[in-house]
Amino acid sequence: MADTVVKQDIRQLSLEKIQEYFVSIGDKAFRAKQVYEWLWRKSAKDFDQMTNISLATREKLKEVFVINHIAVDKMQRSNDGTIKNAVKLHDSMIVESVLIPTDTRITACISSQVGCSLDCYFCATARLKRMRNLNPDEIYDQVVAIKEQSETFFDRPLTNIVFMGMGEPLLNYSNVLDAIDKITSPKGLGMSPKRITLSTVGIPKMIQKMADDDVKFNLAISLHSAIDSTRSEVMPINLKNPLKDLADALKYWYQKTKKMVTYEYVIWKGINDKEEDARALVKFCRIIPSKVNLIEYNSIDDEQFQQASENALSMYINLLEKNDIVVNVRRSRGKDIDAACGQLANKE
Ligand code: SAH
Repeated sequence: MADTVVKQDIRQLSLEKIQEYFVSIGDKAFRAKQVYEWLWRKSAKDFDQMTNISLATREKLKEVFVINHIAVDKMQRSNDGTIKNAVKLHDSMIVESVLIPTDTRITACISSQVGCSLDCYFCATARLKRMRNLNPDEIYDQVVAIKEQSETFFDRPLTNIVFMGMGEPLLNYSNVLDAIDKITSPKGLGMSPKRITLSTVGIPKMIQKMADDDVKFNLAISLHSAIDSTRSEVMPINLKNPLKDLADALKYWYQKTKKMVTYEYVIWKGINDKEEDARALVKFCRIIPSKVNLIEYNSIDDEQFQQASENALSMYINLLEKNDIVVNVRRSRGKDIDAACGQLANKE
């Protein structure tokens, strides 16, 4: 019986590990740097693209390694220019990522997990079970794919990245951080961490961990209510992680990083559209420097959740502005192709 070699995905190896490999086969350690550059900065999908590596060495690499990479399985374009990608992973699982163009920016909205385990009742992704975490390379590759689309279709560079696709980034923390390291490193895409935003339901102990790790990217919290009973009704994560704990973690975050936070907030009819809800939000915003993004609700065919009236929206805006809190209204993008916030659910 012939031995079958299980080949290792070389992109799971650090530069040091690749160096060790080359030394172990009697080759020069600097070869590793060349290969690493092909794998990350140049996004090579095949060893034969590595033209400054000898044919013999490439053959040796192919005997023990593979290069796993994502493939854009399907690309949909919205009337407003938004592009949604169904991205196929090496094990045929699918995640979605979105390119959002505006006059001043091109933003990549990327996924961190296949599915999600958090059950926010208003979110379509929550209806998929969490299947697995994405590896750093799978997160990185989504950015590379959107960067290419940005240059091809808009003739403009990718400017921003938001972790607002599928999954909860803080439940896949080490892989997300590894991916961000590669995205920001000159050995990778060389993007500024100031242009990256991690969006989370707000897991207090992980926010503290991020502060301890002295991260340089921006933090957004999906708040949706600053009243415990209401928040628990729409986001079950709040049952075990009440607002008091979130507030303490945010104080710690600000103390350590001196970075403000953005609260994402949807206003729903009959759920959080009263003045007391807005007042609670104003109070919560005083905990640390912050701003509010009011997000338009994208229906997921659930009668419980309906976008609040324009009156409720104005009431919130007036109250926040009166209290000197910066507030932006984020209208949905890519609704016609189910690419808007909370709509990513592998419908196809
Ligand atoms: N798990 C992370 C990132 C994914 S969700 C988080 O919760 O932040 C990205 C944003 O879309 C979050 O602010 C989320 O609350 C919001 N969202 C989810 N479903 C939505 C919907 N149907 N309409 C509008 N926004 C939604």
